[in-house]
Amino acid sequence: MTDLHRLSIREITEGLSQAKFSSRELTEHYLKRIEKIDAQVQSFVTVTPEQALAQADAADTLRKSGMANVLTGVPIAHKDIFCTQGIKTTAGSKMLDNFISPYDATVVAKGKVAGLVTLGKVNMDEFAMGSTSESSYFGATKNPWALDHVPGGSSGGSAAVVAADLAPFATGTDTGGSIRQPASFCGLTGLKPTYGRVSRFGIIAYASSLDQAGPMARSAEDCAYLMNVMAGHDAKDSTSMEKDVDDYVANLNGTAVKGLRIGIPKQYFNVAGLDADVKARVEESLKKLQDMGATLVEIDLNMTEAYVPTYYLIAPAEASSNLQRYDGVRYGYRCENPVDLTDLYKRSRSEGFGPEVQRRILIGTYALSAGYYDAYYVKAQKVRRLIQQDFLKAFESVDVIAAPSAPTTAYKIGASLDPVEMYLGDIYTIAVNLAGLPAINAPVGFDKDQLPVGLQLIGNYWSESQLLSVVHQYQQATDWHTQRAAIAEENA
Ligand code: GLN
Repeated sequence: MTDLHRLSIREITEGLSQAKFSSRELTEHYLKRIEKIDAQVQSFVTVTPEQALAQADAADTLRKSGMANVLTGVPIAHKDIFCTQGIKTTAGSKMLDNFISPYDATVVAKGKVAGLVTLGKVNMDEFAMGSTSESSYFGATKNPWALDHVPGGSSGGSAAVVAADLAPFATGTDTGGSIRQPASFCGLTGLKPTYGRVSRFGIIAYASSLDQAGPMARSAEDCAYLMNVMAGHDAKDSTSMEKDVDDYVANLNGTAVKGLRIGIPKQYFNVAGLDADVKARVEESLKKLQDMGATLVEIDLNMTEAYVPTYYLIAPAEASSNLQRYDGVRYGYRCENPVDLTDLYKRSRSEGFGPEVQRRILIGTYALSAGYYDAYYVKAQKVRRLIQQDFLKAFESVDVIAAPSAPTTAYKIGASLDPVEMYLGDIYTIAVNLAGLPAINAPVGFDKDQLPVGLQLIGNYWSESQLLSVVHQYQQATDWHTQRAAIAEENA
């Protein structure tokens, strides 16, 4: 079969269980595509063909013995922020260029138990800081829809592999939009779960009170399959919730939209910098949902202007603390010939971290320093609470909240946005992380340059099943999620 990469996850599982093809055939098919096509997209940091084929063979043996799980033998790509035993985990940084973790992240371990086949590790902004994947030490990943554009970030590699059909789905992490924004830029579906739904154990930490992992795929249904693997309590992550996990696939229902009250925040659609095409596509998708039986309710989210300043204090503050561990002593990059301990710290950190990471460490350290702690960090925490309360109030009268995932479509590579411009692009995603809420991106069309536009739906706590169902029903009535970039149509 030459078109295995066009199958949905459900179709793959059916094909495997009916022995229409083996996991080895499927895995070889993807490895061939990676070899041929990834030179253009540059999404992988590490490809692991030997391990993948060994896992595929083991999966095929399990299938034959009747012991397989639903996803046994399905290939996946992991963001290079998830620790993988025996395989390099770089977090997109020179600092971890040679880091091989002695253990698997819980998400990776769960994937192995489910029988997933790891194709490799994919590129990302350095330590997940950025919105373009250009801050990676390993160079920029390209957007499969237009190779001179970025795929978004920080999970840009995860988005690019799926959009180029180099993997059927991928893991991502979202601290301030890093699943939703690249999903939006690459025409994919991506879910950021409620904080505490997915274990953070073994994920290289950026901002621990905001970090959350989730699935990136073509459709809500494909995401649901991966959520079934990823979600759940983990004793190794004290912030993961001891709460029953839904069966996200079984729960997908075709009537989720009827009677759904969708909140439209006035403030969100008046943001300076909201691209006219993005606004138009998002509004059309909302009209479609209305035609399908949803009610649109105008709401207020009064804290909108506080999102960017609040996030860009809290996230760097936590990052500066988390990144202290890279001191050139225990692990990670160490400078050559240090003259003394101070020189070792200084040069290891200034040579090992790129400029965006250094900027955030500086901002965060400043915000946490004795004289400024109350004025910046404590104040930001108070505003964070107000942002959360703003959402909770909104959820008294609506079921979900609609927004663009990003004010624009994908930027040109090297557009050299200044840092503040780039931070402003996070306006629609970061409040969700500050409040710990779940949210999903769904593709809803294209701009004048044929670049994908995404709709974001924000749900109340633990409403992942609802978000997936709403998007699933929308996707049964539309075909934006089935459209493919030209490069994905290329055969290997
Ligand atoms: N653009 C956000 C940032 O730079 C993305 C963070 C994330 O979700 N990892 O902080």
